[in-house]
Amino acid sequence: MSVIVRFAPSPTGYLHIGGARTALFNWLFARSKGGKFLLRIEDTDRARSTEDAIEKIFDGLRWLGLDWDDEPVFQFARAARHAEVAHRLLAEGKAYHCWSTPEELEAMRAKARAEGRQPRYDGTWRDKDPALAPEGVKPVVRLKAAQTGETTVQDMVQGEVTVPNAQLDDMVLLRGDGTPTYMLSVVVDDADMGITHVIRGDDHLTNTFRQVQLYRAMGVEPPVFGHIPLIHGPDGAKLSKRHGALGVEAYREMGMLPEAMRNYLMRLGWSHGDDDVISTAQAVEWFDMGHVGRSPSRFDMQKLTSLNAHWLRECADEDLITKIEAYLEEAGIALDQVGVQRLTAGMAGLKARCRTLVELAEAAAFYVEARPIRIATDAAKLLDPAARERLAGVAAALASVEEWDEATLEAACRAHAGEAGIGFGKIAQPLRVALTGSTVSPGLFEVMAVLGKDEVLARLDDAAASRNPEKSARK
Ligand code: GLU
Repeated sequence: MSVIVRFAPSPTGYLHIGGARTALFNWLFARSKGGKFLLRIEDTDRARSTEDAIEKIFDGLRWLGLDWDDEPVFQFARAARHAEVAHRLLAEGKAYHCWSTPEELEAMRAKARAEGRQPRYDGTWRDKDPALAPEGVKPVVRLKAAQTGETTVQDMVQGEVTVPNAQLDDMVLLRGDGTPTYMLSVVVDDADMGITHVIRGDDHLTNTFRQVQLYRAMGVEPPVFGHIPLIHGPDGAKLSKRHGALGVEAYREMGMLPEAMRNYLMRLGWSHGDDDVISTAQAVEWFDMGHVGRSPSRFDMQKLTSLNAHWLRECADEDLITKIEAYLEEAGIALDQVGVQRLTAGMAGLKARCRTLVELAEAAAFYVEARPIRIATDAAKLLDPAARERLAGVAAALASVEEWDEATLEAACRAHAGEAGIGFGKIAQPLRVALTGSTVSPGLFEVMAVLGKDEVLARLDDAAASRNPEKSARK
């Protein structure tokens, strides 16, 4: 039997980090088994489901590189099919109409609470004659669930979990207005889509026992379940926005790479020995549900950032240039051909120092910026009149350099410092500021080599003549 799994988000908000991990585990499971990864949009909550949220889910999955098979299934559109199954169960005597009013149900709950029992429907209409139905009450349809015995689930993560059937009441399948409940829709969809394995958050574990009873009533073998522990914040509390439980697009905006996100998310719950850095291709080979832990994992922004730094260095230079283009544009810097050439030459030096695409774009901006380049306020202080004079001297010395490579440039600068009787340090920092607008940058001679002679001389001239505007520090 080939594996078919699904990711079934409710489109009531963005694709958050927990959902992204659930999607990733399903995707890895499918790809490692040569199976299918399907997408089902659970849009039955009409008041809260939005087109925008659906788009964000598609975008988020695409950005993460989690490609799904077949067309996505929209749950709401299948409501008639869900109701049809409930009517079949009614006809087969496996479900029944229940006319209990909201007041009666509340009284049942209150009684159960008073007796220290779990509030549940007491089965009043299970065997009662429908002829006794009250006027003016629209009945719901309930599953005639087993009242004795146990329901056991062999969970791929939680192991064997058993619940006495006496604890499960007869759940509602169709509401009074004939619309299907969530529990009915999920089971019918999973059955119709041929889902073989359901991998989802362990907040759904309690639903599973009722769902299994429904599968049995429908005469369908239940899928294999795997309930993965939720993600917690660094303080151990359930992950919330306060901890960084943001939509995946927020991580994209922070400059994270999809391969780093995948690496980080797969390690939130799943492990392969002590390996931390795992490529997606490797994970597809190694992934197994047996190594998903039972305790909640903690979200750690620093870990994500350091994995991102790793994958950033692994990324091809030309890809990084494409990726930072949008961030540069946002900063008002357009990338032209000369810019691309300089970034290609300078990327190795830049990417070694950065952890995110945002940092990379900021570090790279000086290569691309039009003259006169902006100078950070703290760096501008170094360009005092004495420093500007020294820069004019260096510029004159550099004008006669013909072999424009790092070694020759360094020799020329050192020779000039010696002749002028000033320490090389007194030249290096103002030079860096004039050429990069900052006190931190890749190696000075590397920068000079990448910028080329004309640009270096022009930038030194700008600095000597105080033409550079100031740039306020980044927030
Ligand atoms: N729509 C549910 C959710 O977003 C998932 C249901 C399931 O996986 O069975 O939590």
